[in-house]
Amino acid sequence: MLEPVDKIWMDGKFVPWADANVHILTHSLHYGLAAFEGIRCYKGKTGSAIFRLREHVDRLFESAHIGMMEMPFDRKQIAGAILDTVRVNRLDACYIRPLVYIGYGAMGVHPGNNPIRVAIAAWKWGAYLGEDALVNGMRARVSSFTRHHVNVSMTRGKISGYYVNSILAKREAKADGYDEAILLDPEGYVSEGTGENIFIVRRGVLKTTPLTSILEGITRNSVIELAKERKIPVAEERFTRDEMYVADEVFVTGTAAELTPVREIDNRKIGAGKPGPITLALQKAFFAIVHGEDPAHEGWLTPV
Ligand code: PMP
Repeated sequence: MLEPVDKIWMDGKFVPWADANVHILTHSLHYGLAAFEGIRCYKGKTGSAIFRLREHVDRLFESAHIGMMEMPFDRKQIAGAILDTVRVNRLDACYIRPLVYIGYGAMGVHPGNNPIRVAIAAWKWGAYLGEDALVNGMRARVSSFTRHHVNVSMTRGKISGYYVNSILAKREAKADGYDEAILLDPEGYVSEGTGENIFIVRRGVLKTTPLTSILEGITRNSVIELAKERKIPVAEERFTRDEMYVADEVFVTGTAAELTPVREIDNRKIGAGKPGPITLALQKAFFAIVHGEDPAHEGWLTPV
C-alpha cells in the first residue's frame, strides 16, 4: 500500500488525496485508452530535482496525440503542474504519475466528445524491483506472453491499456518465483520487460532492442548516451533469448526500475551471476547524475 500524500492535481486544481475520484462511467476505465507517464524526482546535494522532465512531458503529449486525445493544457502548464505537485506535497524524492484520460460522457467504444481529463499524483517510491535487485541483480523469465505487434498497439505511446499485457506477464513471472518477465516480440526476438527496456553486454558491446515494439524509454536513451560518452560500443539491434543466456551482462532500465542488473534468466546464470563491470559503471554514472553529482549532465535535471 502506498503512503498517501496531501494533494493530487486534477484538471488544473489541487484536490485532497482522498477526494481524487472519478465517475464510474469514465470512458478510459472501461476501454483502456489513457496516456500516462512515470517520472522520478530525486533528492540531491543541492536540493530536489526532476530527471528529464521535458522528455517525459513531451512523451506524454506524444502518447495523447497517438491516442487522439486532445490535451486541454499545454506542455508548459503540465510541466509547471508536475513541479507544483511535488512542491505542494513537500516531497523531496518521489515518483510522479501524470495521467491523461477520457472522462464521463458517451459510452461505447467511440469516445465521442467526452472531456479529456488530466491528473498528476506523486508518492514516495523506493527501488521498484527491490534494493537487493539493484545491488545483486534480479531473476527474470522469458514470458509465455508475447509483446505487442506494431500494428496492434502503437508502442511509441505509453498507453494504459497496453499494460494489461504487462500485468499478465508480471503476474506469471512472480507466481513462478521470478522478479520480472522479459517479453519477446511477435517474431520471437527479445523486446522488453513489463515496465523496462533491456540491455545486454557481450564481448564489450552494449546491445539494446531497436525501437519497434518497445516503449522509447527515457532511461534507455540516457544509458545509451552515457555508454557512448565512455566509448562503449552501442548497437540497437534485435537479439534472441539465447543471446541473453550467453551474454556477459544483462540489465534493465526504467524510471521505476532505474538501472537494475539481471543475474539470472530462465534458470541460467548470466555471466558470473552478479552485476558485471559495464552494468556497474553505467549504474554508478546514472545515480550520480540523478543525485546532482555530475555537473556535465545538470541539464537533465529540473530543480523543484
Ligand atoms: N518499457 C515499458 C513497457 C515501460 O513501461 C517503461 C517504463 N516507463 C519503460 C520501457 C522504460 O521507460 P522509461 O525509461 O522512460 O521509464
